[in-house]
Amino acid sequence: MRTTHTVVIGSGFGGLAAAKQLAKSKVPTVLISATDEHLFQPLLYQVATGVLPAEEIAPPIAGVLASKETVDVVRGRVTGLDADAKVLTYRTDDGEEQIRYEYLIVAAGASQGYFGHDEWAERTFALKTLDDATRLRAHLLDCFAAPVDDSAAHTFVVVGGGATGVEIAGQIRELRTRYFTDAPTAVYLVEGAGDLLPVYGGRLSDFARTTLEDAGVQVLTDSFVTGIDDGAVTLRGADGDERTIATKTVVWSAGVQATPLAEVVAEATKCDTDRAGRLLINPDLTVGARADVFAIGDMTSLNGYPGQSPVAMQEGRHAADMIRGKTVTGTPFRYLDKGSMAVVNRNNAVVDAPFGVKLTGFLGWLTWLGVHLFYLVGFRNRFGAVWSWFRAFVGSARPGFAEAEPVTKGRTGDVTAVGSAADDRELVGSSR
Ligand SMILES: Cc1cc2nc3c(=O)[nH]c(=O)nc-3n(C[C@H](O)[C@H](O)[C@H](O)COP(=O)(O)OP(=O)(O)OC[C@H]3O[C@@H](n4cnc5c(N)ncnc54)[C@H](O)[C@@H]3O)c2cc1C
Repeated sequence: MRTTHTVVIGSGFGGLAAAKQLAKSKVPTVLISATDEHLFQPLLYQVATGVLPAEEIAPPIAGVLASKETVDVVRGRVTGLDADAKVLTYRTDDGEEQIRYEYLIVAAGASQGYFGHDEWAERTFALKTLDDATRLRAHLLDCFAAPVDDSAAHTFVVVGGGATGVEIAGQIRELRTRYFTDAPTAVYLVEGAGDLLPVYGGRLSDFARTTLEDAGVQVLTDSFVTGIDDGAVTLRGADGDERTIATKTVVWSAGVQATPLAEVVAEATKCDTDRAGRLLINPDLTVGARADVFAIGDMTSLNGYPGQSPVAMQEGRHAADMIRGKTVTGTPFRYLDKGSMAVVNRNNAVVDAPFGVKLTGFLGWLTWLGVHLFYLVGFRNRFGAVWSWFRAFVGSARPGFAEAEPVTKGRTGDVTAVGSAADDRELVGSSR
């Protein structure tokens, strides 16, 4: 059986940050991930709507960590944990394997939650993985290419009025105004709360709603999905009345569920979970009664910290610092909140920054652009990202469509490169 000092599970924001931090002290580390890439989830909606090519937000994790000599990357899905024996079991293309560790950092993320209606997963489009984004992109292209009298194909329902829902609804609508300009299009954004972007509230939520409505998105707040069938979604509004919308596209961004590995870890370490299956970790990020097992990021719940990349990254570094002896064992984790932002559509974003600074509109959008450019510094081709965005936002190209399924209607753009998310710094969060 293979042996190492520290195993990190997951190649997302948390796992990558932890592995890089461990490498600073040359801690022998094996990073095991079910996916080959480090996925930059905040830009998935841009892949789904053709703004960016898919592979450009998902560089191979082995490449990102290539310069870290003490980190070995293994492709595998972890299926079992024996916490007393300190042994992990994982599945690779070659079969089942095991590895013994001294310390373990679990950063396996989250998937969509469907509020007890798991069957809706089959009837909706999620936006969590690269496959999700490319599948939605191909479907959107089909829908826009459908005959104009196929109104269900031209009707798009986005469920969940958090940042992801606002961003994808805004971009689908923008496909109609700036790309498929002669396609009939109806976009609905459905939210159970009384406001869009409920965690922002006030002026920022109002701005998001007004901007989307002005752009032609039909915003339905206080509305709950009660049924999804092939070809239709049924909603119940605040007045209790039900309405059915004929549609071939329901994008689901309403709920979060911890990845199945959380249950495995919970059982092995006797750790409690919340209703979404997230591990209720200790203040120092350890799990249950184990001082040698840490869990971080979206699969955990601590102090109400949001499911955002800066939380996962800061937690990854904190856990790694305790393992490499730079922080005293048992030190509680404290999240440094640098603010949140969400794009509403081209030229419009909302920013909730520290010290009560709130920005909307073009100023907010410029801030979003600046922050993302800043975080793109470590990307393989930063210039390519600027060029893609320039073409999509100043012009009306959709560079990502060039790599998609054949388009039967509309234009295609050239592929441009964005590069890799290999940077050490944190993305300013947006509440999903
Ligand atoms: C559409 C979207 C937009 C977002 N936008 C923003 C934003 O603008 N700003 C922001 O701050 N946050 C944003 N987020 C949230 C942010 O992406 C997450 O908070 C962050 O990715 C969490 O990092 P993580 O390491 O916990 O999990 P992830 O980044 O999800 O990584 C999980 C990793 O674990 C691996 N894995 C899962 N199960 C196993 C297993 N059994 N064995 C091995 N590997 C496994 C996966 O392959 C993956 O590599 C967004 C999320 C989404 C979905």
